[in-house]
Amino acid sequence: MTAPIHFDPTRLAAALARTPGRYPLFIDGKSVEAADGRAIERIGPAHGVVVSRYAHAGPIELDRALAAARRAFDHGPWPKTTAAERARVLHRAADRIEADAELIATLDVLESGKPIAQARAEIAGAVDIWRYAAGLARDLHGDSTTAMGEHKLGIVLRDPIGVVSIITPWNFPFLIVSQKLPFALAAGCTAVVKPSEMTSASTLLLGEILAASGLPDGVCNILAGDGPGIGAPMTSDPRVDMVTFTGSTRVGKATMAAAAPTLKKVVMELGGKNAQVIFPDADMEAAIDAAVFGAFFNAGECCNAGSRLIVHRDCADAFTAGFIAAAARVRVGDPLDEATRVGSLISPQHFDLVTGHIDAARRAGADVVLGGGRLAAATGHFLAPTLVAAADPAMAIARDEVFGPVATLMRFDTPAEAAAIANGIDYGLSASVWSRDFDTCIGLSRQIRAGTIWTNTFMDGAAELPFGGFRQSGLGRELGRNAVADYTEEKTLHLHCGPRTAWWTPRAA
Ligand code: NDP
Repeated sequence: MTAPIHFDPTRLAAALARTPGRYPLFIDGKSVEAADGRAIERIGPAHGVVVSRYAHAGPIELDRALAAARRAFDHGPWPKTTAAERARVLHRAADRIEADAELIATLDVLESGKPIAQARAEIAGAVDIWRYAAGLARDLHGDSTTAMGEHKLGIVLRDPIGVVSIITPWNFPFLIVSQKLPFALAAGCTAVVKPSEMTSASTLLLGEILAASGLPDGVCNILAGDGPGIGAPMTSDPRVDMVTFTGSTRVGKATMAAAAPTLKKVVMELGGKNAQVIFPDADMEAAIDAAVFGAFFNAGECCNAGSRLIVHRDCADAFTAGFIAAAARVRVGDPLDEATRVGSLISPQHFDLVTGHIDAARRAGADVVLGGGRLAAATGHFLAPTLVAAADPAMAIARDEVFGPVATLMRFDTPAEAAAIANGIDYGLSASVWSRDFDTCIGLSRQIRAGTIWTNTFMDGAAELPFGGFRQSGLGRELGRNAVADYTEEKTLHLHCGPRTAWWTPRAA
């Protein structure tokens, strides 16, 4: 029996003392409270105490935010501002985020239950993305063609698409908004942003940061509120031109439907159930470490979680033993402890959902060979890292996104079989292939239908590389060199110079 998770109350007191505790909405350049006085009180999932309070936007604030974003786009300076000036604002924002990194990381830890060391890395990654977006802002080009004959010239402009609704989930609160907002701003768009009602603090703080960085009023508006009440109208309102959404596949489908009547552009990052395929000639120590990381990083509450271990039969026993030994050593604990690698799940409801998946797998005959149950703790929702071994690929536990620290292990004999298992689900976000053989890695990477495939690594990322999913993992891409262009519309200027051939009326001699 393992010792209960230890909490040091001085750590929590210090973290709470560092944070403001109360966060207003940000509309038209000003911090505002909700007209009806409604508020959201967030109880930290790990510590069980109130960690933040924010105004809950209602229809009045939603309307004001959408109107401000529309006005700032149609009449404001931002879409016409030079790329150099937009880049300066984004760089200033990046500097301020960096200066406030410890505060932002602490907010995400308190509200989501993720480990502080990981949250710090996420904020550092976010700063890098804001700077990358600032660089891309300067490099936004249209196109031209001179090959249509001597009297014709084609110029293709890239205009900002307009008002963008940005809706984000709770698992990477500050990182995910940073994968969207700076690129929309770099393109000259205006935005209304809605974080998850469970993790809004760090996104609301961004309002102050942007105002202090010189972003004009109305260009970015940030609302805290619930999905059906605030998020849904943000996807259907005719004042919005584009929706970028990260969250569940279920709500992603509802978003597409809501955006259809006004034919908005929709970009979506949704769920995943990602394969880690391990061949016997892999560097087994590295593969085991990466597999444990891939499965349990962010307590598995990660669209990119490598939760399907597809292991060659010749090394499956050794891999399983190594995985169990490594996973059993992973430090699960107080997210405010620097040494913690896995924190609390986001809520009691989500804990029940995740354990419900494990219980269903047991009932279906799967073998839970590691973890599977709650870890003792005075507060929080801590689940032991869990491995379900020898699962049949057809079982629900091997196909459905669990969004918790739960991996399933399946065996294969041939690369074709590994590809079939990897592709045999509805999702296609990411995968990895582990082998020292180039043909094996590249061959399988080309067969797997997913947006990112790693070779001999897992969940590495860079702002330069596009991120997104095939099939029910999403639509469109974020990051990468096209990340700003994705927030633009192409406009063709077709020019004629010199005498034009008459359609009907001959020219007077
Ligand atoms: P949800 O889809 O429930 O919520 C995501 C966001 O959408 C939240 O801000 C939520 O608001 C909002 N929302 C809820 N209902 C509606 C609606 N009808 N219209 C518009 N917006 C709505 O997902 P979770 O936050 O629970 O996140 C977990 C899921 O997200 C997982 O399935 C995971 O796979 C996926 N995900 C995918 C990622 C990717 O990059 N592919 C990254 C992260 C998560 P509120 O919470 O305030 O109700």
